[in-house]
Amino acid sequence: MEMLSTTSAIRDEFPILEEEVNKHKLVYLDNAASSQKPKVVIDAMSSYYVHHHSNVHRGIHHLSQVATDMFEGAREEMRSFLNAASTKEIIFTSGTTEGINLVATSLSRGVLKAGDEIMITEMEHHSNIVPWQMAATYSGAKLVVVNVTPDGQIDMEDFHSKLSTKTKLLSVVHVSNALGTVNPVKEITAAAKAVGAWVLIDGAQSAPHIQIDVQDLNCDFFTLSGHKMYGPTGSGVLYGREDVLNEIPPYKGGGEMIETVTFEKTTYNELPFKFEAGTPDIAAALGLAEASRFIKRLGYDQIAQTEAELMSYATEKLGEIEGIQFIGTAPKKSGAISFLIEGTHPSDVGTIIDKLGVAVRTGHHCTQPLMAKFGIPGTIRASFAVYNTKEEVDTFVTAVKRAVKMLK
Ligand code: PLP
Repeated sequence: MEMLSTTSAIRDEFPILEEEVNKHKLVYLDNAASSQKPKVVIDAMSSYYVHHHSNVHRGIHHLSQVATDMFEGAREEMRSFLNAASTKEIIFTSGTTEGINLVATSLSRGVLKAGDEIMITEMEHHSNIVPWQMAATYSGAKLVVVNVTPDGQIDMEDFHSKLSTKTKLLSVVHVSNALGTVNPVKEITAAAKAVGAWVLIDGAQSAPHIQIDVQDLNCDFFTLSGHKMYGPTGSGVLYGREDVLNEIPPYKGGGEMIETVTFEKTTYNELPFKFEAGTPDIAAALGLAEASRFIKRLGYDQIAQTEAELMSYATEKLGEIEGIQFIGTAPKKSGAISFLIEGTHPSDVGTIIDKLGVAVRTGHHCTQPLMAKFGIPGTIRASFAVYNTKEEVDTFVTAVKRAVKMLK
């Protein structure tokens, strides 16, 4: 297999990077929303449909067994990706949103009670806020929110002061999609577990950039979204610690998640199938496993080094723009830079630079409470992947400067 030691070899793996947008070569800096896909991922999915498709776990015929072996092979790949102890702990989902909803819904069915507290932070994505609000409403538990400091870090003093034996569940983002802050999740997890809480880590933005070891983090749940880590849309993993998954009730009911069904009583299947009702997205799981192999081929050292260089180069170049205000200036950041420019609206800047072929995200980034905390409507966010280059950063910064000139 070809080495991926140069940026041009890496870029060759991503056909979409050759596309033109508005007659300009695409500069794709919206990777935190969704990254692009390498050929190996696209080919794995297409080859599955061309040669191997059948339903899984159900048939005794050849294709069904092949598809089942491939699907369970993908589970083993994701177990290794997260360093989980067992494939029983790897539940395929459609992404982080489904992973969090699975846990929140399950816990709201008799596990969480009035008097319990669910703890989140001000920097959570809506998908790590709303499911817990719903769980709180249905269970009678209370939602407790930890403050964020002005530079965009979790206020650890506030965290420790709000943590107590009432805290049943802490759900915290590993890397903030809006600020890029890397949170000290291992330390936070240790503190929460010391008071007997379960911990969910939202890894949507960390899995693409940081090596994950769920046993080292010692968390009870970890969620990721395949489409943010070079994998397909509709793919994701919820890691759950085996003893905890055995303790909590299922999420969706249906085929596959049962052992026996009568109209009087249903018994549930063993892990992980207890949490995988219905036909899964088999091709997406295979694509996700291929994305995991792709990341392993690159190695997180190379990913981290390339992206850190891009982040610091972009921060320096953007810093030359008069009136720029960075939102989120924590010392440890990964993947994304958020900013505003005095006298301009983020969406106007985004629209103009799109005309020049540059794709960034503007708006509240599904973190409205965080934007409210900073007293802003939203930001411009540039987010990086391993295939981005300094030349692309130059094109982006030049485009932003042009937009500012037009708008001021
Ligand atoms: N959590 C974070 C931090 C995110 O950035 C996102 C998506 O942007 C999500 C959760 C939701 O992920 P998905 O839409 O893939 O379910």
